[in-house]
Amino acid sequence: MKRIRNENINTKEYWGNVHKSGQMVEGDDWLKNSVITNHTSELASENSTIFIQDMKSKTDQWALATLVRKERVVDPRPQYQRGPVWSLSQKQLLIDSVLRGIDIPKIYLRELPAQITRKRRPNYQYEVIDGQQRLRAMWDFFRDDFGLADDSDPVDGFKIAGFQYSDLPERLKDDLDIRQLSVVIISDADDIEIEEMFLRLQNGTTLKAAERRNAISGKVRDFIKAVSQHKLFKKSVIFKDTRFAFNAVAAQMLALELVGGPTDIKDRNLEQVYRNNDFNPNGRAPKHLKKVLTYLAKEFDERTPELKKQVVVSLYLMVSDLLKNYSISRTLKRGEFKDWFLEFEKYKITELAKPDEEKRDSDIETYNFHIQQGTNRKESLAARHESLMKLFLLRFPKVEYRDPQRLFSSIQRLAIFRRDGGLCRSCRKKVDWDDFAADHIKPHIKGGKTTLENGQLLCALCNSKKLDK
Ligand SMILES: [Zn+2]
Repeated sequence: MKRIRNENINTKEYWGNVHKSGQMVEGDDWLKNSVITNHTSELASENSTIFIQDMKSKTDQWALATLVRKERVVDPRPQYQRGPVWSLSQKQLLIDSVLRGIDIPKIYLRELPAQITRKRRPNYQYEVIDGQQRLRAMWDFFRDDFGLADDSDPVDGFKIAGFQYSDLPERLKDDLDIRQLSVVIISDADDIEIEEMFLRLQNGTTLKAAERRNAISGKVRDFIKAVSQHKLFKKSVIFKDTRFAFNAVAAQMLALELVGGPTDIKDRNLEQVYRNNDFNPNGRAPKHLKKVLTYLAKEFDERTPELKKQVVVSLYLMVSDLLKNYSISRTLKRGEFKDWFLEFEKYKITELAKPDEEKRDSDIETYNFHIQQGTNRKESLAARHESLMKLFLLRFPKVEYRDPQRLFSSIQRLAIFRRDGGLCRSCRKKVDWDDFAADHIKPHIKGGKTTLENGQLLCALCNSKKLDK
């Protein structure tokens, strides 16, 4: 464990919340009685070693007026920070608390190294590591951007309800101006150390997993950030980018692409993807990912209400498979995929409306079950994928499987079995799943394609007879 060089602060003081296993509510979330989720405390216990080398820190008391005056030199939104999310009532509560002399948690600022200030952000001397929401609330209040709540009780006999800063009596303004706040100034720290610190300070609060991941620097983060700006997200999907939702879905897509098929895409798994230092943004997987997104964006060229998060992930997996292993770009015309998908959604509704569950399409049942639960689990993604692909191939029997060995894919086999009703097409006998052969009607050596159209169910006996001919 490395030491921090300054005596003003001990490690326990600012890593305290981490070691106490996330029961404390710190920083900007002090107002909320937040429930600590499992995954945040997991991260805390995983990384409880301290990686700080030459970083210095000192705790100062700053008058609130000083903090307000520094607004123009404090960067409230460095890369790793989340956007402004406090509601009006949270901001009002903070100012109300300051007016009543209630203690406010420390604010953590990073003193920017001269080279960063000169090159990247010439206006800034500091960036906020923790306390962004509190600072914004104070800055906004001093600018008269909002007033106190209409039902606020008087302070020291002075009425404050509904008041903006400029409405306050001089006495209270003076009190506010000179209110002392604890500010921890971190200096001589590099970006990685600061990001680590941000993560630690946010642990045990309600920071969302996607926001935490966004604070991990590296090629994966930058790649996902770029992907989250794709047209598909901006123009087609129905969900909004609140709390890095686009990043989260883009990260799930990358995780699936790196594995090359269904895999677990929970927060824990995504965090591992972010920490992959060998990631090459020009590698095969990221390139294919972009190709898939471009395909989807061309198909869904307008906002589509059906495109919810889980649905987008499933469609991603499907098109990734289709573009990699099947001949869809040749077989389908522009718009046909979208039309199929919208038909599928309608079909789903009709099927699920059938009162007798036995009579519903089993693929629709499977899909519907898994799109609602355990959606980020490998099993759920695989089941959805299989159902969608089967229905798709049944609808487009000319789609060819591009397997070098010219065998039918497992999903094509499932679709053939289902289409032919489990009966041998030659002798019409019922065939067990174990004994069935997916046969090329026109043999592959004679140019027959590996498509559903050219595939048929044969029993083992008929299949061997055909091969003997
Ligand atoms: Zn047969």
